Amino acid sequence: MENKISSLTCQNCGICCRNFPFVELNERELTALENFTKMPREQFTDPMGPTYADGHFLKTKENGDCLFLKEDNGFFSCGVYEARADICRNYPVNEHHWKWCNENRVK
Ligand code: SF4
Ligand code: SF4
Repeated sequence: MENKISSLTCQNCGICCRNFPFVELNERELTALENFTKMPREQFTDPMGPTYADGHFLKTKENGDCLFLKEDNGFFSCGVYEARADICRNYPVNEHHWKWCNENRVK
């Protein structure tokens, strides 16, 4: 299976998964990630999230990257591609996302 953050003209710049991505997970998504990673949800979620809202949010690394973001010579990919959350599958879904994304896609 293709291991890209998004499809089509995605340039795998990783911008959407860096700088504290806001990924809230529902029960189905939590279970899918637990099964895929073999990790309990406590290891990959932050109960407060980057904006300190209640819920289960993907943890970020110290530099703000998603915990599951992988980098290889400037090429970014999702380490949990097959089990990624809906918001990750559907990105970009709003104007703010499109702005970020279009600035990094090949025209
Ligand atoms: S789970 Fe994957 S697609 Fe979603 S923010 Fe993390 S690295 Fe990006
Ligand atoms: S910001 Fe857009 S082009 Fe960059 S990795 Fe994300 S989906 Fe792909």
